[in-house]
Amino acid sequence: MKNSGAKEYAVLNGTVVLPDRLFEDGMVRWKGSSLVSVGKQRRLPKSVIQIDADGGFISPGFIDIHVHGGNGADFMDGTPDAVQTACEAHARHGTTTIFPTTTTGSFKSLMAMIQASATVRKNSANSFVPNIAGVHLYGPYFAEDKVGCHSKDGCRPPKLSEYEKYFATKIIRIATCAAELPGASDFYALARRNKCLVTCGHSNSSWSEMQTAFNAGMRHVDHFWCAMSSVSSMRQRFNVPMQASMAEFVLMNSDMSTEVIADGCHLAPELLEFAYRMKGANRLCLVTDCNRALDMPPGEYLFGHSTEGTKFRSDGRVGWALNGSLASSIVGMDHMVRHMKASTSASLPDVIRMASLTPAERTGISRQTGSLETGKQADLLILDSKLAVQKVVVRGRLTH
Ligand SMILES: [Zn+2]
Ligand SMILES: [Zn+2]
Repeated sequence: MKNSGAKEYAVLNGTVVLPDRLFEDGMVRWKGSSLVSVGKQRRLPKSVIQIDADGGFISPGFIDIHVHGGNGADFMDGTPDAVQTACEAHARHGTTTIFPTTTTGSFKSLMAMIQASATVRKNSANSFVPNIAGVHLYGPYFAEDKVGCHSKDGCRPPKLSEYEKYFATKIIRIATCAAELPGASDFYALARRNKCLVTCGHSNSSWSEMQTAFNAGMRHVDHFWCAMSSVSSMRQRFNVPMQASMAEFVLMNSDMSTEVIADGCHLAPELLEFAYRMKGANRLCLVTDCNRALDMPPGEYLFGHSTEGTKFRSDGRVGWALNGSLASSIVGMDHMVRHMKASTSASLPDVIRMASLTPAERTGISRQTGSLETGKQADLLILDSKLAVQKVVVRGRLTH
């Protein structure tokens, strides 16, 4: 057995957060990088290194499928240093699996970002970064009228000769495209062949465009209510009769999942509650959509690439584009979990599920991680009673 010489650890004296319930006086043990038992607390052999959860929660590590940067670095800066810096920052906020996310930009800067992420992943065994489960190819295939805080110059319709090069790197695991763009169906089909979670975002698409996208493999919509179509935007496009939009398509179709930015600045509590009640914990993900201003002082920053990006201002709570609209969040997943718990009726297991097992299931990595189950990777957290991160374990290594 490859782990036979590895040290064994146990976290005890805490409440274990399982996907469907809380388990008091629990204990989670791991050897090397794998969980070896999750159960009732009991006496341990001396050889097992014990970690006291101090009456707090033992939680699966968080999984972030939509995240742009942190601690001053944006993934689109495109250097291994920037990827490493942003990843380490999110690990401190409880993220143990991360999907570095592209923005709109040139082919060259997207490729640099993808390759830098691959380099950091290759060298991750000895560094304190989360698992890089893949890259989220998010920009550049956005609709111009829903581009949000991204640079308009960097967005375009999908072209096979371009995106086949991204997929050829074999690290793209989530792929976004606005459904109404010419060529979207071919893009979705190749993304599906590459085993991606296929998503529609920054889009003003109609119900029928969503249905065509669904037939090509699209199953997810980025940041619900942000940069997406609505009945009123459909009326502007097609007049009457009024038509259904992305929102209705996601709410009515149980195979569709979506995500919310639960930072308290993007969506009011009733919208978080509504999304949770309509989609349920296994079709709703918490994402940070966090930019480089995480853990940085208020001030002006660039969203995206260090020269191609767009200016925004952080007020210490959220990012603002210079035109007064929101420019993504500046907080980590721990904040999202606390805010979702405080402002909705979702139970703690449901809230944590939306930040762990659900994104794992949607991206096809739930056999390896996403919940505390024997045989899965030892990706876990100790949280105190107020859900603040005390300790972070990635593949069995204590990283924080
Ligand atoms: Zn966005
Ligand atoms: Zn984003």
